[in-house]
Amino acid sequence: MERTIYVIAEHACGEISPVTFELLAFAAQIRTFRPLPISVLILGQDVSGMAEEIAASEGADITALEIPELGNYNGEVYRQVLADFFETEAPALICAGHTATGTDFAPGLAIRLGAASITNIRGVAEHETRLCFDRSICNGARTARVLPRTETAVLNVQPGVFRRTGPVSPRPGTVRIRRTEYAARKLRCTGIRPSQADPGALSDADVVVSAGNGVGDAENIGLVYRLAGLFPKSAVGGSRIVCDRGWLAYGQQVGVTGATVAPKLYIACGISGAPQHLSGMSGSAFIVAINTDVRAAMMSVADVCVTEDLATFIPTFIEACNAA
Ligand code: FAD
Repeated sequence: MERTIYVIAEHACGEISPVTFELLAFAAQIRTFRPLPISVLILGQDVSGMAEEIAASEGADITALEIPELGNYNGEVYRQVLADFFETEAPALICAGHTATGTDFAPGLAIRLGAASITNIRGVAEHETRLCFDRSICNGARTARVLPRTETAVLNVQPGVFRRTGPVSPRPGTVRIRRTEYAARKLRCTGIRPSQADPGALSDADVVVSAGNGVGDAENIGLVYRLAGLFPKSAVGGSRIVCDRGWLAYGQQVGVTGATVAPKLYIACGISGAPQHLSGMSGSAFIVAINTDVRAAMMSVADVCVTEDLATFIPTFIEACNAA
């Protein structure tokens, strides 16, 4: 049997999550090393519509596993259903997002399958004819290259690193639907509440304007929002200090313990550029740093450095843009 790369689609509130398309881009990148088939699995209560959508837009063959118990995500059910699904087949790779749900079910699934589990993946490469994966370690300060030694590897891929470049095949994919009963014995999700900030807004934005400790106080966060308002499809993010202080919601934190973003433009306002922050935004296409300290680490990764007090520079810049 041909060994397959499986992508586990992620979805929330009836919508396919952007990380699903990034996982397909990651799988397509693996195919530059190995011409393996790509297949998608989507699990949930009512997911056949999303399966059709993925098959049509991405050209990937997909199996929808419809399970009444999965009205809400349940890691116990995911692990059991996927372990049963892969009982008769040893896939080459099983790819999930390095997300709240992906990191919840994937390592446990790897244990059940006797497979290698590799989390926090940011790259794929080849080592002596074998596939290996780059993963972020030491809170983003280092990258380790890891070689799985098992037949199957279960991977958690960092969101925001791989960008969709097009469908994985020119023809529409096929859709198989399987309906199965599974009863969770250990866990039950009693409901889902929206969080203060929508982290999806960050990963989907073309422009991310981020606030750091250099904003000085909560009031200056308004300046950062005004700057973001100049750009269509923009979002406001921040460093951990700013989120710890409650000036922004944790859903807006960029970095190793927050979101990974790769927008067309990233504007860092008063952010020093600690490795934990850089790890979440260094994939941005163009970086502007506004910082009074020319030696700040952010200045060495930025394409444009503005060595000014942000409290003076941002209003002046907004005024100039509005006048133009
Ligand atoms: P600072 O380091 O205090 O930098 C403020 C910057 O603003 C300085 O460079 C200063 O020159 C500049 N500045 C000051 N005043 C002005 C002004 N008026 N105008 C312009 N510039 C000015 N951090 C994250 O961001 N994301 C994470 O996910 C994350 N995860 C972490 C995980 C762990 C396990 C640990 C230990 C740390 C983590 N951190 C994370 C924290 C990280 O190490 C840094 O402490 C944090 O990123 C620093 O935030 P900052 O750059 O906003 O603040």
